Amino acid sequence: MNNPIAPTIGPAQIALLEKLSNACAVSGDEQQVRKIVLEEIKAHADEFHVDALGNVLALRKSNAAKPLRVLIDAHMDEIGFMIVDDDKEGLFRFEKVGGIDERVLPGKSVQVGKDNIPGVIGAKPIHLTEEGETGRKIPLEALRIDVGQAGGKVKIGDRATFATRFRQLGPSLFGKALDNRLGVATIIELLTNPPGNIDLQVVFSVQEEIGARGARVAAYSFNPDLAFAIDSTPAYDLPVWDDEENAGYNTRLGAGGAIYTADAGLISDPRLVRHLAQTGEDLHIPFQFRQPGGGGTNAGAIHRVRAGVPSVAVSVPSRYQHTAVSVARLSDWENTLTLLYSALARLDRSILSTDR
Ligand SMILES: [Zn+2]
Repeated sequence: MNNPIAPTIGPAQIALLEKLSNACAVSGDEQQVRKIVLEEIKAHADEFHVDALGNVLALRKSNAAKPLRVLIDAHMDEIGFMIVDDDKEGLFRFEKVGGIDERVLPGKSVQVGKDNIPGVIGAKPIHLTEEGETGRKIPLEALRIDVGQAGGKVKIGDRATFATRFRQLGPSLFGKALDNRLGVATIIELLTNPPGNIDLQVVFSVQEEIGARGARVAAYSFNPDLAFAIDSTPAYDLPVWDDEENAGYNTRLGAGGAIYTADAGLISDPRLVRHLAQTGEDLHIPFQFRQPGGGGTNAGAIHRVRAGVPSVAVSVPSRYQHTAVSVARLSDWENTLTLLYSALARLDRSILSTDR
């Protein structure tokens, strides 16, 4: 059996994640991340191109006879904002792009447009609030992005993101866009160090956060035998204080990569779920099963392309997703990469004829 050594995560990979997490790529405007991706893959891909929607499609060929064609996807885009109107004097009205809870917005630093112009989403000072007002959510219509004196540089249609800078503190990683730059960095590693037994069809996709739009056309184009979507999923694992186990968690930090059995848009192919879990058990790679709940990944779009594609999703868990900062564990990222690499290295055509 083909059993090469899985890639590992060291300072170079963490530096790449930092660059990716700090870059701004709100859905539909993924240029900053696409540029980094193209730079990273150009020396390693056998073929690559940017398609009509802005997806990066890259191929790493196997030397094997009739290799399986396996698509691995990670979305490049992140949630954020779009400037929709100019109120003058540096104040701009905005809309949300992707799923964001408005309650997390007031008082946050943001960056606007291609030049990353600094701004802030302002809120009324507590001194001026009236009785009962602090208990109510501030409607989006009442919020503005304030860029001070730089108003002339901001245009309608510009995107904005939270201005959080990436940090590593011990075993933890903090960043504004770990969803899904963790996935992007993971599939860059797989493309750079491929297992060799399969044709790797690698998709860095656009517009996932507004409905998995890019992955759909990329999967159509590649026409794969199987697909893996690599994403980041919420970890709702804060402790409870009465000694009972937290039954509410979706995934937990520190428990490894999360395999999806099902989500709002996909029933994972059971053969791929078993293959991943068996790989983890055989090689003692920690993993967890993501618990049912809302949300989904690009696998939900990919598995319905053409005549259907057996698909599964695997995610690195992180806390506080779709807010200004999320927190992940280095070990979970490492274990996700090792699990994926090892599972891909053990794949062959027989999986397609196995009973479900
Ligand atoms: Zn995501």
